[in-house]
Amino acid sequence: MTHSTPSNPVTHADWQALAEHLTVEAGLEARAYIDDTFVDAADGATFTTLNPATGETLAEVASCDAADAETAVSVARRAFESGAWSRSSPGERKAVLLRLADLMEAHKHELALLDSLDMGKPVSSAMGDMAGAIGCIRHHAESIDKLYGEIAPTGEESLGLVLREPLGVVASIVPWNFPLMMTAWKIGPALAAGNSVILKPSEKSPLSALRLAQLTREAGLPRGVFQVLPGFGHTVGKALALSMGVDCLAFTGSTGVGKQLMQYAGQSNLKKVFLECGGKSPNLVFADCKDLDRVAEHAAAAIFHNQGEVCIAGSRLLVENSIRERFVGKVLAAAERMQPGDPLDPASFMGAMVDQTQYQRVLDYIRQGVEEGATLRAGGQALDIEGAKGLFIGPTVFDGVTDTMAIGREEIFGPVLAVFGFDTEEEAVRLANDSDYGLAAGLWSQDIDRIMRVTRRLRSGQVFVNNWADMDQTVPFGGVKQSGNGRDKSHHSLEEYSDLKTVWMTLAT
Ligand code: NAD
Repeated sequence: MTHSTPSNPVTHADWQALAEHLTVEAGLEARAYIDDTFVDAADGATFTTLNPATGETLAEVASCDAADAETAVSVARRAFESGAWSRSSPGERKAVLLRLADLMEAHKHELALLDSLDMGKPVSSAMGDMAGAIGCIRHHAESIDKLYGEIAPTGEESLGLVLREPLGVVASIVPWNFPLMMTAWKIGPALAAGNSVILKPSEKSPLSALRLAQLTREAGLPRGVFQVLPGFGHTVGKALALSMGVDCLAFTGSTGVGKQLMQYAGQSNLKKVFLECGGKSPNLVFADCKDLDRVAEHAAAAIFHNQGEVCIAGSRLLVENSIRERFVGKVLAAAERMQPGDPLDPASFMGAMVDQTQYQRVLDYIRQGVEEGATLRAGGQALDIEGAKGLFIGPTVFDGVTDTMAIGREEIFGPVLAVFGFDTEEEAVRLANDSDYGLAAGLWSQDIDRIMRVTRRLRSGQVFVNNWADMDQTVPFGGVKQSGNGRDKSHHSLEEYSDLKTVWMTLAT
């Protein structure tokens, strides 16, 4: 049995008590982290970060701009050239990153709470993110000293060595929906490979990144190797993306911003641009499934987890028409059990929408869905949660959606499920692939021949068969089409942060 203590919160009251201690007055860091020092933005600007579940101000955070980006880039370059990290042995990097993972583990409740307070996700879900984030750092720490280079199969008179080298300065720009986990997916492999990293967290969720910066210092990361620049995308994010001193942009966020980053790279130094972007993922349910209750539970969780603010949300549910009415009934029943609540209550399945803009955007899509003629079967309204003043929207289900409707094509990034019907496998595959995105797809069936046929035909970076979003650090994560162009997680992610150098040696004759 787990016991509540101040450092091991279990109950709603425990989390509320812990939240009361996380204030700027009590030491919560809200300044930028540049050159091993916490500093105000060069021009002294700040922005307010709010708790979307209560509307309360959490902190006034340093709002970095181009001048801060320039300083951080030159610090990162100096750190890289010094070799203190970039030329350290993989074993030395492993030791520091393992210490960082241990520190994150020791402070996981605090880190999870910061993400929950900053962006509204349930604290129980944020704790799941911490396991993913810590596991990611450990994985890359453990793997970096087990990678070998290659000797090319040339003739005897020469030796072709294939070496893997860090890129230099990596700017990592991340979103707000899984603040610390997305950060870990980027910085784990980037640091393990020997790069200097500048992190730009989302302006909607900067706090856990700043706490992480404190932990990197404690872990012994050399000066200037890791820096954090909070601020807006169009200011400090754009400055990093246009910088001639940045060698790689590692981005997770929307497809629109991903396209801008590619332009910035072209306008500057042709830096490498690694993108993890949006999705509108199809989840295909065939009539041959045995346990429709289980499938319905997963189909609902696939969209309502994290309030639908998930890149791989199963937002398009494609159901064989012969079971559609029965199956949608089961999804509605499951959705009823996934209502939002206070994010600090460990029993809450959903929390608050991240901010007023996102909240309004989701409500606008719901209105548009009704106007376009889809059938609203559940939800659709803003909710008042007792005792909370925040931005809550209940699980929303539209049936009878078609591929011409905005709610059937565009990424809403909220708790809105679009149900389509299909009659044949051919039609299901056509509907699934009829999207600009290709991040994830799900397939539920008992028929192994069908599973093999359909998984091959789905144009998607990942296909979940008889599960949704079962994941592990060892398995690559990423998309095709306008969902992105690289892979987070697993040893494949190291390829994003390193380059091959070939050394051709002619042997003396
Ligand atoms: P966003 O694109 O608005 O912002 C992402 C980051 O980019 C933020 O830090 C933001 O400040 C920065 N940014 C914005 N404009 C910029 C500019 N002009 N130059 C440089 N930086 C800029 O996305 P968001 O709203 O934070 O996150 C939601 C999106 O992220 C969704 O589309 C979601 O699908 C996607 N996402 C994808 C994955 C994945 O792994 N594929 C994971 C999580 C989220």
